[in-house]
Amino acid sequence: MADFVGFNSLDSLIDATVPKSIRIDKMELPIFDEGLTEAQMLEHMKDLASKNKIFKSFIGMGYYNTFVPPVILRNIMENPGWYTQYTPYQAEISQGRLESLLNFQTMITDLTGLPMSNASLLDEGTAAAEAMAMCNNIQKGKKKTFVIASNCHPQTIDVCQTRADGFDLKVVVSDVKDIDYKSGDVCGVLVQYPGTEGEILDYEDFIKNAHANGVKVVMASDLLALIMLKPPGELGADIVVGSAQRFGVPMGYGGPHAAFLATSQEYKRMMPGRIIGVSVDSSGKPALRMAMQTREQHIRRDKATSNICTAQAKGLKTIAQRVHGLAGTFAAGLKKLGTVEVQGLPFFDTVKVKCLDAKAIADAAYKSEMNLRIVDQNTVTFTATSLAPEVQNLIPSGLARESPFLTHSIFNSYHTEHELLRYIHRLQSKDLSLCHSMIPLGSCTMKLNATTEMMPVTWPAFADLHPFAPTEQAAGYQEMFKNLGEMLCTITGFDSFSLQPNAGAAGEYAGLMVIRAYHLALLAIELEKENLAVISMAFLLLESRGDHHRNVCIIPVSAHGTNPASAAMCGMKIVAVGTDSKGNINIEELRKAAENNKDNLAALMVTYPSTHGVYEEGIDEICKIIHDNGGQVYMDGANMNAQVGLTSPGFIGADVCHLNLHKTFCIPHGGGGPGMGPIGVKKHLAPFLPSHPVVSTGGIPAPDQSQPLGTISAAPWGSALILPISYTYIAMMGSKGLTDASKIAILNANYMAKRLENTAGIEPEDVAKRLMDYGFHGPTMSWPVPGTLMIEPTESESKAELDRFCDTLISIREEIALIEKGKADIHNNVLKGAPHPPSLLMADVWTKPYSREYAAYPAAWLKTAKFWPTTGRVDNVYGDRNLTCTLLPVSQMAEEAAEATA
Ligand SMILES: *Cc1c(COP(=O)(O)O)cnc(C)c1O
Repeated sequence: MADFVGFNSLDSLIDATVPKSIRIDKMELPIFDEGLTEAQMLEHMKDLASKNKIFKSFIGMGYYNTFVPPVILRNIMENPGWYTQYTPYQAEISQGRLESLLNFQTMITDLTGLPMSNASLLDEGTAAAEAMAMCNNIQKGKKKTFVIASNCHPQTIDVCQTRADGFDLKVVVSDVKDIDYKSGDVCGVLVQYPGTEGEILDYEDFIKNAHANGVKVVMASDLLALIMLKPPGELGADIVVGSAQRFGVPMGYGGPHAAFLATSQEYKRMMPGRIIGVSVDSSGKPALRMAMQTREQHIRRDKATSNICTAQAKGLKTIAQRVHGLAGTFAAGLKKLGTVEVQGLPFFDTVKVKCLDAKAIADAAYKSEMNLRIVDQNTVTFTATSLAPEVQNLIPSGLARESPFLTHSIFNSYHTEHELLRYIHRLQSKDLSLCHSMIPLGSCTMKLNATTEMMPVTWPAFADLHPFAPTEQAAGYQEMFKNLGEMLCTITGFDSFSLQPNAGAAGEYAGLMVIRAYHLALLAIELEKENLAVISMAFLLLESRGDHHRNVCIIPVSAHGTNPASAAMCGMKIVAVGTDSKGNINIEELRKAAENNKDNLAALMVTYPSTHGVYEEGIDEICKIIHDNGGQVYMDGANMNAQVGLTSPGFIGADVCHLNLHKTFCIPHGGGGPGMGPIGVKKHLAPFLPSHPVVSTGGIPAPDQSQPLGTISAAPWGSALILPISYTYIAMMGSKGLTDASKIAILNANYMAKRLENTAGIEPEDVAKRLMDYGFHGPTMSWPVPGTLMIEPTESESKAELDRFCDTLISIREEIALIEKGKADIHNNVLKGAPHPPSLLMADVWTKPYSREYAAYPAAWLKTAKFWPTTGRVDNVYGDRNLTCTLLPVSQMAEEAAEATA
């Protein structure tokens, strides 16, 4: 292959590709340098697992032990047919995933009592922060205070406080009964239902009062409690957020868990994240797709207010009643004993107990391998989670749910394992995944997710740990964090890592906030040096106004949309710099931008290799220009697959970067999530890494002993459960394996580029759709350069698969040539008609000017195995004009089904 590209060896190709000035000699991992075999790896993971102690958890606080039904565990969670898909941008080959997400949205709207829901939030804390940003937007940024009731989970409060900073919002935490809106400056209020210590308050009058004062109400809630409680929508809430963890997702020492956000029709266009909607395909049949206008706020770049990119009725009632009954029995028992005071307010699953010595009680429980929550010296709480006999309902009738939910047939059809298994499989078979073919998505690095890497994820010793369990019970996890952090430091050339951010964009945001905190501390230290009380006072005033001094962020126009969106969320002013036709940053323009802003320069955000896939020669000069003008260099590490072992962000001169573990480091893309976006920093930034209000994440305190950044994600180590995937990947590859992977990834990309050299001038959308007829997923399109395809084959693909993809593109090029030569109609041809689902190909009537056989089998290999798209081309515009984000009413579905069979 190197020969085909014009080199006599792989190494000479690499030498010619990666600039000498940034090449490292050799990467040496501090542990696992040689790499482990799969068998050795599993032994090591078993050893780590044995160091985690699984106690009974009564901690609650947003994380509950659950039972994952084996039919779901094996057929979804452990099934590459579900976890290896790309985000469902190509609707025609993702109808199964889209349907499952639409089911999720429907469930959320039913349980919350609000009509619109999205399907891609990260955790309850960040969902609450997104809701806060929505309140700010709804009030057009004119009211700058956000009130949080003290009955919210502490991590939720902290995440909102961190996030508020960038929006220049002031957060006031207050007891629910003391909340007032006298200042006239309040945009929204967040309350929790039930509260973090278990109490259920009746918010109806509270909400009326907030609305009377022009204040929007956000409710953080618990889906299982909502089975029994009056839905927040009926109480008048404007936005409801929470986590879906409790519905069968393991605690996983913090995540991943799907969070949700529901709201009214009025605010649907302000919702963050992805929203799945109903539209029609080319033959007018209903089909699902991601709603365009509302989807992926980050596409709005610096106008974005969010950067999120990468998320049965009778049975549920029984579970909810049992959990409630258990808590009730426990409370009644305690009352009978009479030695402690049991909380008087109604509760769902959490009982608050006043006692003489909370620690003594928790210690006694600990001896019996149980974890309780110590609220303060004299208070513990007990949260029921597991299954137990049904007991009486203690929820007052005024607060009890009366409205029905999950009435749609989808929630009432699959009650036997066979039926459920078949439904799961039906959905799966509509979706193209890495089980079928390569998914050549530029910048998204869709590489192999090896089975051995995936195995520990579902082991109970990793899956069943509460994130706030005493750290000594998580010794296996802690050892893995330490090892992983050290290996990531070596790989990136950095000194310290935070494993908290749980998506790439969350990492960008965290990294920029680190830079911001660093600049602020520097400013404080400089002022300290001057020792002028007047200036210190002035600084304090400035800080409290959020009027930060270094706030300019330079971002090349070719950057991923999340870059400007993250910078905007940090309150930074974005200065764009141009690129030349090859995608290289215009260095003179950058120099000017840096010098013009040198008093206020905070950072540069740069992607390397550039988003055009080019190793810029000038990168070290670029870093120097930024440093000379007082700024810090943020490197977007999403393209790290092209650096590992060959160079590193730290070596190149960056100060901070995030890694997309769900790209370079093998966490599967999972149809759009979950992911992990840890950040690495140079020594001087280490004191400013994220902290956590409940569990210490370790790390170095800032010069003034504070942990200035605060909390970025709800859980201390983000989505800890999926870290074993990246950990085992790195450990099994070893130093040489990782370096070879980068080399082969470069080889594969250059090989494809060479084969496709003369294939220019293709129209992106039609090509992507025609690729489906050949059984492929389209590459990244129209970004970073309009009218281009960005293909990233990764090192995981064989030459045979690369050739099959190249042959396909060349064949499509020939189909285009026929149009160019006038041999095929410009509007009615095999590309415009793509994709061709069986329903179209096998209809009695066929009016296309090309044959059915050619439409379906344009290449010989398709006759032995073919992946069939399930719908014709989906109409995005129609769906956006008629935004429907829940399942269609049963009657309408029945009509359509009848039509389809007729
Ligand atoms: C994927 C990607 C991101 C965003 O990562 P998420 O995990 O989707 O938030 C940022 N920058 C680049 C260059 C990317 O490719």
